[in-house]
Amino acid sequence: DDATNGAGEEERIFVSVRVRPLNSKEIDKHEQLDWEVINNDTIIFKSSLPDRAMLPTAYTFDRVFGCNSNTRQVYEEGAKEVALSVVNGINSSIFAYGQTSSGKTHTMIGITEYTVEDIYDYIQKHDERDFVLKFSAMEIYNEAVRDLLSMDITPLRLLDDPERGTVVEKLTEETLRDKSHLMELLDICEAQRQIGETSLNEASSRSHQILRLTIESSPKHYQPKSNSSSLAATVNFVDLAGSERASQTLSAGTGLKEGSHINRSLLTLGTVIRKLSKGRNAHVPYRDSKLTRILHNSLGGNARTAIICTMSPARSHIEQSRNTLLFASCAK
Ligand code: ADP
Ligand code: MG
Repeated sequence: DDATNGAGEEERIFVSVRVRPLNSKEIDKHEQLDWEVINNDTIIFKSSLPDRAMLPTAYTFDRVFGCNSNTRQVYEEGAKEVALSVVNGINSSIFAYGQTSSGKTHTMIGITEYTVEDIYDYIQKHDERDFVLKFSAMEIYNEAVRDLLSMDITPLRLLDDPERGTVVEKLTEETLRDKSHLMELLDICEAQRQIGETSLNEASSRSHQILRLTIESSPKHYQPKSNSSSLAATVNFVDLAGSERASQTLSAGTGLKEGSHINRSLLTLGTVIRKLSKGRNAHVPYRDSKLTRILHNSLGGNARTAIICTMSPARSHIEQSRNTLLFASCAK
């Protein structure tokens, strides 16, 4: 249970890759690429590469999940330890990164549910403490932050609180009664998300969704003035915009300029993650985007981070898959 980090010690980012199965259209078109997962941590592309071959052909990460893996496995081996650090008072973030239709949402929904199950399990086994679970959900679209638990679509402001850091003003926070309550709230988020999508073209590929779970705990019979410890920590489940929103810009060589296909939050997250993975001395530009401002306290420092990079196994997606693997390589 004692998962406390040595003071000031920074954790590496845990990076895994998940390859989804071919869908039926892709099967019909014989889209299968010739690749193989070895040692559960390396993906190798074999002979059948198209003209512009991926180089290098072998990529190693903390974990690689082939197309026969299930989300339970991805959770257990790629996210659980990081996600559950919240019960020990350590903030964390779990990201799904990858091109549109590579399986980000599919993966992240499962991971969120498994985490909540395990947290309730943990709570049951620790009746020496009182726990309160709170849930909130937001979407970032074109650098506007929206509350996914509210009917009000007015963009929310970010405020700088001297003690708590960046705070999303007026964000709804629900106190969870049990796991089924969470499932109800997830349905509301999904409905709210779809309301946005009918009016905004391609919204789900362009927006980021952050589901946020905060756990507060204190010893039973807690007296505020005693030394007994109360803990509070947050785990963020981040379903990112399609990664083609970042790579289009980069491959066009235009740098970070505003434009319809450019996603500032996604590009800034990439920079932040690259800096964090290189060590502690670099200036980390958290303030350059809404996403990285909101996640500041749960990214870097003593916080734990896991990234699951999802990719398609289809031949026609090879350029995007290559970009995803390059991003993943930079993060580790
Ligand atoms: P994204 O969120 O990256 O755009 P989705 O999670 O919506 O992608 O996945 C696209 C489609 O592929 C969905 O119909 C989803 O159910 C399916 N899918 C994704 N990953 C898997 C997987 N590992 N196993 C089976 N189906 C998957
Ligand atoms: Mg999605």
